[in-house]
Amino acid sequence: MSGYQPTSGPAFNAQPTNNSEYETKPVNYVCGDCDATVSLKAGDAIRCRECGHRVLYKMRTNSLKRDDGK
Ligand SMILES: [Zn+2]
Repeated sequence: MSGYQPTSGPAFNAQPTNNSEYETKPVNYVCGDCDATVSLKAGDAIRCRECGHRVLYKMRTNSLKRDDGK
């Protein structure tokens, strides 16, 4: 056993494991160029998967409700 093994270090204990549930929540965005819906998770690059545009707008779930009051 002569392999180099990094033993107990403070940096190795700093990995959060409880946040995995929070980070897997996808958020829906709308492309500012082609209006495609793009769902991104935390850590994903902000980029449209249809056209590659990098400007995405956050989609509101409330906006699904149409205002037909006119
Ligand atoms: Zn697009």
